Amino acid sequence: MALEKTLSIIKPDAVQKNIIGEICSKFEQAGLRIVAAKMAHLSVQKVQEFYAVHKDRHFFGQLVNFMSSGPVMIQVLEGEDAIKLNRELMGATNPTKAEPGTLRYSFARDNTEDEMHKNIVHGSDSPETAATEISFFFQTEEICPRNN
Ligand code: ADP
Ligand code: MG
Repeated sequence: MALEKTLSIIKPDAVQKNIIGEICSKFEQAGLRIVAAKMAHLSVQKVQEFYAVHKDRHFFGQLVNFMSSGPVMIQVLEGEDAIKLNRELMGATNPTKAEPGTLRYSFARDNTEDEMHKNIVHGSDSPETAATEISFFFQTEEICPRNN
């Protein structure tokens, strides 16, 4: 296991449901530390850039509209195996298929089939994307590691 940092976004649906604290609590209970945090209402352009890897997918327009529809909470989480651990806490991309106990199951399991984009949280999926995604949103001096 390695000490890692990963990028988390609490998406507009979760902010709307007023469950930022509950989600952060799950991160902390699992041993992850919040080492950077900010709220933002992202522009269409910023979301298009962040999700550029998905630009040719059929859901891209829906995803961009959703992610720019309201405020989000953007965080850097730090801990042992943080990238995989956060992905486990999140659950499957489609909340209706997520394991019980995961964030996407707990807070979006009742979504309809056409609401798959509304899945509560984003998390980096590899060390490379974590590094790129963290620097997309945070300056080095905004990150406060507590790995001691
Ligand atoms: P994850 O967020 O689990 O890493 P992806 O990177 O594959 O998932 O997709 C990015 C985001 O795009 C998802 O979190 C979800 O909001 C949205 N998305 C993915 N697949 C679909 C789909 N088939 N229909 C609608 N939205 C989708
Ligand atoms: Mg992804």
